[in-house]
Amino acid sequence: MRVRFWGTRGSIATPGADTVRYGGNTSCIEVESASGTIILIDCGTGIRGLGDRLLGGGRHPLRGHILISHTHWDHIQGLPFFGPLFVPGNEWDIYAPQGFEQSLQGTLAGQMQYTYFPITLRDLGATLHYHEIVEGTFRIGDVRVTAQYLNHPALTLGYRLEADGVAVVYACDHEPHDRSLAGGEGEIDGDDRRHAEFLASADLVIHDAQYTAAEYDGKKGWGHSTGEYAAEIARSAGVHRLALTHHDPRRVDSAVDDIVAAIRRHVAQTGSAMEVFGAAEGTEIVLHADPDRHLQLLTGEVSPAVPLPSAFFERTVLLGVADPALTATLREAVAADGIRALVETNGERTLARALEACPSLVILEEQLPGTDGPAVCRALRRHAAEIEGDLPIIVIADREKSAAADAAEGVSDWLVKPLSTAYLRTRVRSWLLRTPCHWQKAPVPPDEERRLAALRHLGLLDTPPEERFDRLTRLAAAILDVPTALVSFVDKDRQWFKSGYGHGPRETPRDMSFCAHAVASRAPLVVQDAMEDPRFADNPVVTGDPRVRFYAGQPLIMPDGSCVGTVCLVDTRPRDLDERQRGLLADIGELVRRELLLSNP
Ligand SMILES: [Zn+2]
Ligand SMILES: [Zn+2]
Repeated sequence: MRVRFWGTRGSIATPGADTVRYGGNTSCIEVESASGTIILIDCGTGIRGLGDRLLGGGRHPLRGHILISHTHWDHIQGLPFFGPLFVPGNEWDIYAPQGFEQSLQGTLAGQMQYTYFPITLRDLGATLHYHEIVEGTFRIGDVRVTAQYLNHPALTLGYRLEADGVAVVYACDHEPHDRSLAGGEGEIDGDDRRHAEFLASADLVIHDAQYTAAEYDGKKGWGHSTGEYAAEIARSAGVHRLALTHHDPRRVDSAVDDIVAAIRRHVAQTGSAMEVFGAAEGTEIVLHADPDRHLQLLTGEVSPAVPLPSAFFERTVLLGVADPALTATLREAVAADGIRALVETNGERTLARALEACPSLVILEEQLPGTDGPAVCRALRRHAAEIEGDLPIIVIADREKSAAADAAEGVSDWLVKPLSTAYLRTRVRSWLLRTPCHWQKAPVPPDEERRLAALRHLGLLDTPPEERFDRLTRLAAAILDVPTALVSFVDKDRQWFKSGYGHGPRETPRDMSFCAHAVASRAPLVVQDAMEDPRFADNPVVTGDPRVRFYAGQPLIMPDGSCVGTVCLVDTRPRDLDERQRGLLADIGELVRRELLLSNP
């Protein structure tokens, strides 16, 4: 990961002979992952030079992302001078904290009103997508981004970027929650501890250090850190390198030198090896993963997709659904993202409503009173004048459909029940955003009814744990060196665990189940890295707890040929099994199968 400082000054730009070394431009950082994902943090005046450099780089169209910490002037004033926004074909996503009163677009447009600037936001040539975000984790390309609130008079987010095995944190503007910590001493607790956890073991932290401890008394409540606080909080969090930034506008180069030297002495006294430097415009740092150090990823809920563009909330989804349980699940999935849902329960009314309401997405149940779902879809496709050609029309069926059937009827996608709220929510987002969904539900096996009968016949569902199975999962985890091993049954709408070594829940929805894929294929399934697999990357058990990266499942096949579940291994690290290990897993599978046959032969 490459990081370059384009603006390091706080509050206002300060060009001049005394600020040449650390630089006079206000906040702007460029981050590029090894695979070329471009993320800019803040657009102070430093972003102008960065824009020129990007345009000179010959990449067209330019695709990039801008994370804005907050909309104080020193963090957005360069935006109207950022060249790539004027070039048609370029596409930029802009993320900023969700404000209480004004939309992000409105705030940014405000500084580009004609009184202040000759070009309006709307006249920019590039395509812009605005995302108003709250605390949480999401992905931009191959970069995992975690946003966390800072302590500042304006609503402000810090950003932690994880990619290529390294972590970079940007935390400007921020004041100690407990002001007594400004001197760089005292017990770090409460919200300050939470802030330290946000920086935990990062390779580079770029932290607000506008003031010194000696100046702080006169600056309380202004929303900025002292160098001493930044150093102490980073040191306690096990940070590798600390860049002090957001230099006070009155600070000449030699004064920044003095502050950096004092902080280095302070850190050295504690015996810490943390490297400290003053962020200087033009400095570029390339961070490489340290093979001896296991990067500590942040824990916590991860949203299944990128935060939604604000225009998203004006969308309408039309549901033509008769099944009350399905209607309730769909309503919940759609409402979770604040999208409006219209519901009709028969075919004719759904068709009429679709033509008058111009929905952004239509979801139909296959069996509908009057005209069925596929017929409503065909009728809609004939009304090319009223509906958009790429309007996604989804049909939900009770059983699997052939691929040929979809194409013939103009159905964009078929889903098969059962469907969880989380799964539908992820799919709705990807249809509306026209982005691929990296979460595929396993197909329902052709012998499903016989399979479920065989599973019930075992008489093991919802029974207490038994040592004869727990012994085997314990051995599996030890022999194959994984934290979690399970005996999993794939039931009608859930997967239920008869035994779970290193695992808490007794069941999860079926569409989240990896085992359902092994059951459908009736073959061993090894997923080396779920985050890289289009079937699993957006699955909530991958994006959130328990953060599954590796999975290996051995199907459990009964004498009548039906596959009832798996014995499986799960790890939070990506890995593989060699031939010998795959053989051992098959051996354990055979032992579990024998126990099943003892239950009810
Ligand atoms: Zn600032
Ligand atoms: Zn500010």
